[in-house]
Amino acid sequence: MKSLHYRIGRMFLCRADYHSELIDSITDFAKMKKIKMAVLSVIGAVDDTTIAYYDHEKQEYQKIVLKKPLEISSAWGNVSMKDGRPFAHVHAVLSDERGRTIAGHLVSATVFAAEIHLLELIGKRLEREHDPTTGLSLWSLKT
Ligand code: ZN
Repeated sequence: MKSLHYRIGRMFLCRADYHSELIDSITDFAKMKKIKMAVLSVIGAVDDTTIAYYDHEKQEYQKIVLKKPLEISSAWGNVSMKDGRPFAHVHAVLSDERGRTIAGHLVSATVFAAEIHLLELIGKRLEREHDPTTGLSLWSLKT
């Protein structure tokens, strides 16, 4: 296992704007506050959500489009750098009116309400790069 060590920086509690796009909101906030790395969680509610499942064999994302109001029961992720810009990677567990859940890699979601907890990390700049084994854009942890 490879790892890097970080110190804790600023902690932010944010409320995303009604009808904003959630991933863009997180990314734009990171740019505005000059955040390079962070860990984050989100709870709230969304409409028009797209999540994805990564097919290991095909090495591509299969998108799942959800055109209904859903709760963000839990969402976790991080901010790191990709192509020189902050990149938010978020996975979400979403629930419907009967409490049934669906989960996956969060591609996009229109915010109904969203409370974001973002904890900045200070240390070596963490960049994503293409990983030929998985086909994913993973952290480069060269020390
Ligand atoms: Zn993912």
